[in-house]
Amino acid sequence: MTRQAVVAVLGAVVVAAGVAFTLLRRDTGAAQGEPDPTDSRWVCAAPGCGKDFALTFAQLGAFYADHPGENPPCPACGKSETARATACPSCGRTVPKPGREHSSRSPPKCPHCGKPL
Ligand SMILES: [Zn+2]
Ligand SMILES: [Zn+2]
Repeated sequence: MTRQAVVAVLGAVVVAAGVAFTLLRRDTGAAQGEPDPTDSRWVCAAPGCGKDFALTFAQLGAFYADHPGENPPCPACGKSETARATACPSCGRTVPKPGREHSSRSPPKCPHCGKPL
């Protein structure tokens, strides 16, 4: 086997392992009924709503293609007063992305379980 062939085979193995790992992770999450950790999370900031929702990156990409620079609308109230959110590492629920208002003296906490984000 030539050196180039060895490099090509090694590269293919690494890619295959990465794909398998990603698929396994997705399967595990789906089996538990958990939101896919690779989804983008959003929260609605409209008064009286506060709904959180998730979009796959494929859905998000399709939305941005049609509405560049806009936020995806809330599925509950239809307003686009939505903000990017993240998943709490402790309880897995959707929480607003920590912003600049948090200093090192008051680290951001999950509003659901109170654990640090
Ligand atoms: Zn809403
Ligand atoms: Zn939490």
